[in-house]
Amino acid sequence: MASNITLTMIKPDAVAAGNSGKIIDLIIQSGFKIQAMKLTRLSKEKAEEFYAVHKERGFFGDLVKFMTEGPIVAAVLEKDNAVEDFRKLIGATNPANAAEGTIRKLYATDIERNAVHGSDSDENAAIEASFHFAGVERF
Ligand code: ATP
Ligand code: MG
Repeated sequence: MASNITLTMIKPDAVAAGNSGKIIDLIIQSGFKIQAMKLTRLSKEKAEEFYAVHKERGFFGDLVKFMTEGPIVAAVLEKDNAVEDFRKLIGATNPANAAEGTIRKLYATDIERNAVHGSDSDENAAIEASFHFAGVERF
């Protein structure tokens, strides 16, 4: 059976802090294969589209502002059980609750500036991979 995929974004806080390389190394060492990767920056419209599910939440405006403040690293990652295993690797949304050794425990600042995104289902992983990458950009 083909491996599953998940979509990650190394968020503007972690890119600006110079933590992209360490996070990418941790991802590879944890058994994920990189299918696609790029440094890019979300426009306000694209950030609102990506996080549309949260548009009624009180933190939505701040989240869009944060996600557009600087470049991100977007990547498609492949592994058996990719979505669940990657959510385990990144840790809880709030780094205060994230397990030791997780990416958010290591590199997040707070519940908003939390270093990385990970897809929450196989269906959303496919949607989010297509959001960031054309077919010819995936290997
Ligand atoms: P992501 O979707 O980025 O992987 P997540 O699935 O762990 O994170 P979500 O509930 O989907 O968490 O929230 C999306 C993002 O919105 C969070 O990663 C965080 O940056 C921000 N966020 C979530 N909850 C809050 C909050 N209470 N206050 C401020 N920002 C928040
Ligand atoms: Mg989420």
